[in-house]
Amino acid sequence: MLSHVVQHALALLVQTASLTVWLVILTVVFLPLERFFALRPTRLRARSLTIDLTYYFLNGLAPALILAIPASIIAAGVQKITPQAYTDAVAELPLWAKVALGIVVSELGAYWGHRFSHKNAFLWRFHKVHHSPESLDWMVNTRAHPVDVIFGTRLGGGTDINRALAYCQSRITRPAETVVVLISDLYEGGIRDEMLKRVAAMKASGVQFVTLLALSDEGAPAYDREHAAALAALGAPAFACTPDLFPEVMAAALEKRALPVPDGG
Ligand SMILES: [Zn+2]
Repeated sequence: MLSHVVQHALALLVQTASLTVWLVILTVVFLPLERFFALRPTRLRARSLTIDLTYYFLNGLAPALILAIPASIIAAGVQKITPQAYTDAVAELPLWAKVALGIVVSELGAYWGHRFSHKNAFLWRFHKVHHSPESLDWMVNTRAHPVDVIFGTRLGGGTDINRALAYCQSRITRPAETVVVLISDLYEGGIRDEMLKRVAAMKASGVQFVTLLALSDEGAPAYDREHAAALAALGAPAFACTPDLFPEVMAAALEKRALPVPDGG
């Protein structure tokens, strides 16, 4: 429990640090532009600066803090009712098509969400903060009520295996005595080459690496075959495994025997 609290506090710190870095970058870019090329120069007022900075950090941190759990529940629910064939078809689209679709979906959502915020009396109470500033400068974009930001946050999600593995890798102290079991469909949303490089590095340091592939609700293996093959080529077997086979696989991995990998896995 305590370690969870510490982990969340750490994540919050990292997020705050990243927001600060972005603030510095944006300031370096926009402050000189505004200072030298402003159509209507305004003096920097301490009060509005304080308000803007508060909004900047509050809105940068609040959505993740408040949305993490409900967003995960919604994502899991949507995944449950989405037909597997549809998920597979989308997963097989080329990257450019995924990016284009992602932009279309998120922009449509943002547009109608914004329109709704103007039409709906309840949402407008929060959204009007965003339209309250009387003079415009580069920081004004941060003016928004956290409820408005949360409503406007687009649901996203995905699998970042590389990042998950990076975390695992950081916890390994005795590689020769470590077995890493990755349970995944291997549809990587992170950096594919980094993920493979990481597995190769773990293998090279003596870690045993096993991937248990996801089964669809019908019990059929459902996974990214190209990535499974790439892992197998690294000597990291990837195969679908029913729960009753799992103890045998783990026993073999711990005793460094050949893993009972089913054929054609
Ligand atoms: Zn608006």
